[in-house]
Amino acid sequence: MWITSLFDDFISLIYPKICLGCNNPLLKHEECICTICQFHIPKTNHFKEKKNDLQKLFWGKVQLNHAAALYEFVKDSPLQKMIHALKYEENQEVGIYLGKQIAYEIEDSTLLKGIDYIIPVPLHPKKEKLRGYNQSMSIAKGIQEILKTEIEITTLQRTVDTESQTKKNKYSRWENVGNVFEIRDLEKLKHKHILLIDDVVTTGSTLESCVTTLQQIEGIKVSIVTIAIA
Ligand SMILES: [Zn+2]
Repeated sequence: MWITSLFDDFISLIYPKICLGCNNPLLKHEECICTICQFHIPKTNHFKEKKNDLQKLFWGKVQLNHAAALYEFVKDSPLQKMIHALKYEENQEVGIYLGKQIAYEIEDSTLLKGIDYIIPVPLHPKKEKLRGYNQSMSIAKGIQEILKTEIEITTLQRTVDTESQTKKNKYSRWENVGNVFEIRDLEKLKHKHILLIDDVVTTGSTLESCVTTLQQIEGIKVSIVTIAIA
């Protein structure tokens, strides 16, 4: 064992892991981001507040058990760099790291109890093939690592062909979000509490569409968790 550890130390001496926020070398106990950068990312209070800014996005649209974003999105911040790394630099490790931070908040929250399944918002298969992975899946894996809750990816599917969508104008594309997802199985998630995962929420229209689709299932309860709210 000590040889492996010695080898790891040797490797990190030559190739130190770098903070995604400030590019300084990370200390041994730090992952993805240094303590100082982490300190400067503003956390929300969503995991403890029933009426929060994310929840309010869905008022009058869909019924949710709870909704919470971990951080406030700040432009040009270490958080933006982390999200960029997750979405465009094939850095799935940062997704897992952020998922774990979400899981610690869920453990301490009385508003997110009894989750049966985690569902990452599906990407269109073509987009997922292009990127090589679904970034929301990386976040889900981080959550699963801590909470041990099963990830479910067969029931909710993304269906709309993005190619045919780009031909439409902006307005009809927005309208079209309503039919982007479909349910493959109406039985498995009956009366279950689902935790839906997304990266950054802006308008909430994609998540709204997911929830509307999921609510075709009898007795389903849906909560939403995201890394950030813009
Ligand atoms: Zn840093």
